[in-house]
Amino acid sequence: LAGAREIVDDLVGDRAAEWDRTGLIPDDVLRTLSARGLLCAGVPEASGGLGASSAANGEFTAFVGSRCSSLRSVMTSQGMAAWTIQRLGSAQQHAEYLPKLAGGQLAAVAFSEPEAGSDLSAMTTTIEQDDDTVVVRGQKVWTTAAHYADMIVVVGRYGSGAAAVVVPASAPGVTVTRVAQPSGCRAAGHANVTLDEVRLPATAVLGGGQPLMLLVTTALAYGRISVAWGCVGILRACLDAARGHARTRTQFGKRLADHQLVARHLANLLTSEQIATRVCEHASRCWDQGSPEMVVATVLAKQVGAVQAAQGAATAVQVLGSAAAHEGHVVERAYRDAKLMELIEGSTEICELILADHAVSMPA
Ligand code: FAD
Repeated sequence: LAGAREIVDDLVGDRAAEWDRTGLIPDDVLRTLSARGLLCAGVPEASGGLGASSAANGEFTAFVGSRCSSLRSVMTSQGMAAWTIQRLGSAQQHAEYLPKLAGGQLAAVAFSEPEAGSDLSAMTTTIEQDDDTVVVRGQKVWTTAAHYADMIVVVGRYGSGAAAVVVPASAPGVTVTRVAQPSGCRAAGHANVTLDEVRLPATAVLGGGQPLMLLVTTALAYGRISVAWGCVGILRACLDAARGHARTRTQFGKRLADHQLVARHLANLLTSEQIATRVCEHASRCWDQGSPEMVVATVLAKQVGAVQAAQGAATAVQVLGSAAAHEGHVVERAYRDAKLMELIEGSTEICELILADHAVSMPA
């Protein structure tokens, strides 16, 4: 990933607040990053990608997250689409889709439905085989990056199990409607997706017939580790802003940093950033070593990262005081963006339930 940070700095510059306000990341920014393989840097070189390790991709994700959580969200979706295709697709499907995702096209992944949020077993979208075609029917909500996407990886019921299907956003029967005024990650292109009798070649189906929750867990694993590293980025941005302000602003005759209660906020922020970084590093090590601990380590990273980011962003706002009370200020955006990280890819409570199951089933 040599030079990747410079490319991001060049493309993002100081425009993240403007993108947050307008709710849009310019197309050329997304296309340039996609064409360089940077939105899904873990795609193997054999499939046209950069072949980055989870650790390297994670640190890069944190860097993007420190600049713009909306862009990082688009990156998470692209990486999750690529990962889902990698894990569930055949060699032919790898050759068909992965070079596109590392070569300029954009993708999103749709699980959630109006009545299937935390409980994805309530999903009703169907992918029905009809000779050498499939018909997709359903309604997906809150699909990150769907507004920008060329293809949407849609998860649905397939026979007695489940499948994912790669749906071109331009296919007849697909309607993509933007979510109005999301509270955070406002330029991430969240949209609701209606699939009205969408007919596709059967070759678009990935992992047909797997148990639904197994398929969902496979796909979500990438989303979770990516969000976790994104939270590290949020914390780094907050720590930078808070310490910069506390070093330069004087009240009661001394720097804010020299007031012990403010110093405690800085200590807490540093602690949050370090905790989140270490659990992410551990999870990425598990990914890179193919360790069986990977699933739990990933849920732990997502849980810790999101909670620490939400707390850390609130702390940073407190340190900056009125200086942060402007729409678009880096920590004001972080405050809104971080809270959403506690809701998605398995909310805080859902992650806690998974971790509790693990704790209960561990040998004494
Ligand atoms: P609900 O499931 O209704 O939950 C509401 C509250 O109840 C939460 O606090 C939850 O933790 C709690 N709760 C629910 N069940 C339990 C339980 N059993 N025990 C304890 N507490 C419980 N979806 C996609 O498919 N693709 C995307 O790209 C995507 N991106 C998103 C981006 C954003 C910014 C947001 C806000 C959502 C996105 N979603 C996406 C949807 C997201 O995955 C869901 O919002 C999430 O799964 C939670 O579902 P819900 O909002 O319906 O909340």
